[in-house]
Amino acid sequence: PRLANQIAAGEVVERPASVVKELVENAIDAGSRRIEVELEAGGARLIRVRDDGGGIEEADLPLALSRHATSKIVSLEELEGVASLGFRGEALASISSVSRLELASNVDDDPTAGWRVVAEGRQMEPRVSPVPHPRGTSVTVRDLFFNTPARRKFLRTEKTEYGHVEEAFRRLALSRFDMAWTLRHNHKTVHQLPAADDPAGHERRVAALLGKTFLDNALHLDLSAGHLRLSGWVGLPTHSRAQADQQYFFVNGRVVRDRLVAHAIRQAYRDVLFHGRHPVFVLYLQLDPAVVDVNVHPTKHEVRFRDGRLVHDFLFSSLHRALAEARPGEGAG
Ligand code: ADP
Ligand code: MG
Repeated sequence: PRLANQIAAGEVVERPASVVKELVENAIDAGSRRIEVELEAGGARLIRVRDDGGGIEEADLPLALSRHATSKIVSLEELEGVASLGFRGEALASISSVSRLELASNVDDDPTAGWRVVAEGRQMEPRVSPVPHPRGTSVTVRDLFFNTPARRKFLRTEKTEYGHVEEAFRRLALSRFDMAWTLRHNHKTVHQLPAADDPAGHERRVAALLGKTFLDNALHLDLSAGHLRLSGWVGLPTHSRAQADQQYFFVNGRVVRDRLVAHAIRQAYRDVLFHGRHPVFVLYLQLDPAVVDVNVHPTKHEVRFRDGRLVHDFLFSSLHRALAEARPGEGAG
């Protein structure tokens, strides 16, 4: 099993950023309101994700670390309409096979209660011991790839790995405005984002994560057609220092990199006049979950739309209309 886990780890655990993503997705699935991410040395020395979600029962703690143990799917039919982010029961097993992992949790409101398990890249059944923990879960991952030197060697500089983590954090925090988020690196707080439930709060978060320049030069939009809804912000050509990497697209709350989506956006940009500009955007597409498959690949950045044509045309025409209306000095049309 250890080897199988390490092989699986190759798929899910590429670098500290992928660990953060998996742990945070678990925290989101647990119904947390607040998530804290803490790192040391770009995540290579330490990654800790702490949440205030439902927690894990004492008896389930060792199970959570075993492969294919998931509490999220009970039948194959359910796979069709998974609402939770993780469902394969591989992340914790994989991460614990290539790190020193500690899982502490409490399902109780009594903060003196709680349990923890420790796993050190071994297959041995982890032992459960009591530890006080507030309601929720903390996962601490130390010395990532300490026992897989080949993979450890692939880690880049602290700065680069940290950059990837911050990017993952940005995507996650942009996907859930209703949750509070903290990011700390080497004992310094980098982001502290309160939960936001109104448009002003949403804009504060976008500005905090992407910079005020992005927001000041962006057009806010919110358009619907049938069961499709597109909302968020797109950069206008006034944004002369637009960074090519500021492209965030969420489908039903999950970040997605998709050719069809990219094509529709690029087309709309090009058509309206923003020649030579990188489209920059934070956009949210909402549609009936029954017509989109978001679990095409384990890392889940891809989607498959049942009616790609319809989605493409909706994106293109919505953006085209919004951008044309915002075009400075010219009327729409
Ligand atoms: P998956 O998310 O695919 O189910 P994971 O290996 O990521 O698999 O997690 C295994 C199980 O551990 C989850 O199904 C869940 O029951 C439990 N778990 C992991 N992280 C948390 C958390 N932060 N809060 C509550 N339960 C958790
Ligand atoms: Mg998971």
